[in-house]
Amino acid sequence: MNKLLVTGGAGFIGSHFVRRILDADDVEKVTVLDALTYAGHTANLGQAFLSPKLDFVQGNICDAELVDRLVRQHTAVVHFAAESHVDRSFSTAGTFLATNVHGTQILADAAMRHSVDRFVHVSTDEVYGPLLEGAATEDYPLRPTVPYAASKAASDLVALSYWHTYGAPVCVTRSSNNYGPCQHPEKIIPRFVTRLLRGEPVTLHDRGQHVRNWLHVEDNCAGIELVLRHGTPGEVYNIGGGTDMSSRDLTGELLRICGADWDQVTYILDRLSNDLRYAMDWSKVAALGYQPTHDFAAGLVETATWYRHNRDRWAPLTRASGTALEPQHV
Ligand code: NAD
Repeated sequence: MNKLLVTGGAGFIGSHFVRRILDADDVEKVTVLDALTYAGHTANLGQAFLSPKLDFVQGNICDAELVDRLVRQHTAVVHFAAESHVDRSFSTAGTFLATNVHGTQILADAAMRHSVDRFVHVSTDEVYGPLLEGAATEDYPLRPTVPYAASKAASDLVALSYWHTYGAPVCVTRSSNNYGPCQHPEKIIPRFVTRLLRGEPVTLHDRGQHVRNWLHVEDNCAGIELVLRHGTPGEVYNIGGGTDMSSRDLTGELLRICGADWDQVTYILDRLSNDLRYAMDWSKVAALGYQPTHDFAAGLVETATWYRHNRDRWAPLTRASGTALEPQHV
């Protein structure tokens, strides 16, 4: 487990994970494989490039030859690469299926062929679909409602099939909504913060009643590392434990932090499909020693401060991807 191939390591969560794992003394080498889509930025890795342990390969996880060559040189794979934005999946579902499902199959196939020690497939609570009450354990039925979540559910099953069929040491993590520095400004927290910092209005779907569990990205990465090191092959681990909050209450917090008022908020019709509530039971990963440590209020302030001080990182993205004009997504 000392030579890691990390897919999607130039994205939001992947780049936090790479920075974290490079500090581990027993990790000799980390190779990032990333296609650098609109969502991937080498700047997210920043100082990590100073580490002699880090290699960066720009390439697509659907390129079977490249994936085979890279997996052969590593002892473990941590797989973050994905199309990750729900709103985009409404108009480009085919891209989501290609990257999230086919790409995962190509990686799992190479992991099986080259007998890696561990393959961690990173997934989401959205695969369980909405829960009006209670919390999903890992054996809860998968009832995804949007193309993004359906593609992730399919990719979870494909990855796990390589355990059941070939004994490939696959673990799946499913986390709730992550927040923190370096997230693309198309996602709700950075989107609202960057708009409020520019004095622009923000939009809430319906009455802002949708509830999400907010998890600091570093807590998720700590959970993923635990699963990488101590997870049992063939098992799924929910990673949650952040703060449950409706979009409306989240908006109130962000307005306060950014020194803005409710008159900057407009309500719009709900999107095509918008699950009312996600909730997970994460006692299984807690048994491995996982415990989230970030306080949400402090984490939001830290996140907003990062965007305030790194305008050069996000301003070009809001122009390039047109996110300034799109409604928000949770
Ligand atoms: P992100 O969109 O910020 O980053 C995705 C990265 O994958 C980018 O660097 C992109 O360039 C790369 N990528 C996309 N397609 C690729 C391809 N075909 N080949 C190689 N690289 C490709 O996503 P994120 O928010 O960091 O999410 C990472 C993973 O965690 C995803 O699998 C996502 O489904 C999952 N997840 C995210 C959240 C969240 O709140 N952000 C929550 C639960 C699970």
